[in-house]
Amino acid sequence: TSYGFREVPDGQKQGLVNQVFHKVAKRYDIMNDVMSMGMHRAWKDAMISALNPRKEPGYKVLDVAGGTGDIAFRIVEASGRQAHATVLDINGSMLGIGAERAEKKKLSGNLTFVEANAEELPFEAGSFDAYTIAFGIRNVPRIDAALSEAYRVLKRGGRLLVLEFSEVDMPLLDKIYDAWSFNAIPQFGKAITGDAEPYQYLVESIRKFPNQENFAAMIRQAGFSRVTFTNYTGGIAALHSGWKL
Ligand code: SAM
Repeated sequence: TSYGFREVPDGQKQGLVNQVFHKVAKRYDIMNDVMSMGMHRAWKDAMISALNPRKEPGYKVLDVAGGTGDIAFRIVEASGRQAHATVLDINGSMLGIGAERAEKKKLSGNLTFVEANAEELPFEAGSFDAYTIAFGIRNVPRIDAALSEAYRVLKRGGRLLVLEFSEVDMPLLDKIYDAWSFNAIPQFGKAITGDAEPYQYLVESIRKFPNQENFAAMIRQAGFSRVTFTNYTGGIAALHSGWKL
């Protein structure tokens, strides 16, 4: 469907995504609360419960597109501050905010921040117990490349968890959601950051992302076993899970 936003050719996509997150980095956390009406917190908490990180120091998680650190902080806390999380993001501005927040929360000892591309991870095969990515994979131009990198860097027995906006499957909620995302979100974006366009792009990218079933098929294609998904809030978001067995 086209909602009148311009098409972004694949080759230009990463550049645009980088501009968006560079611009919003400082206000990213507040924007998240406004745009999702606080719901992202509950979805993220549900993701961490699904992961159920081991409470032992050797447990290593890679949080890709980790931005300002939300997922990594939650994992470290849920492990009783035992786990180590590597926060990887392509955007240094987002990571900079994350590192400041980690410092304030006294979590820096459990975290490493790495600036890199999800399509080409700078880690050896079999390095991590879990790979998480929240609201990040739809921004990556080559999703299949990101998923096969996820598979490569996981240990045998390792877990993949992907939290992403998905297809709303509830009558009425889909109408409300459309009105919210195509009108309210760009307006809020403009009011808070002075620019509506980055948010129009983000809304559009949600519509283009494969639905629950199709994304599950892509995860299987990358080699993962026991692939399942759970819808949150009528499918506004979905958590996909897979195992490297
Ligand atoms: N995971 C965080 C959260 O849930 O709050 C941040 C999500 S934010 C919506 C998306 C992040 O994806 C941005 O920080 C952006 O820089 C990052 N990103 C976009 N393309 C990427 C890529 N190719 N590799 C790694 N990170 C990428």
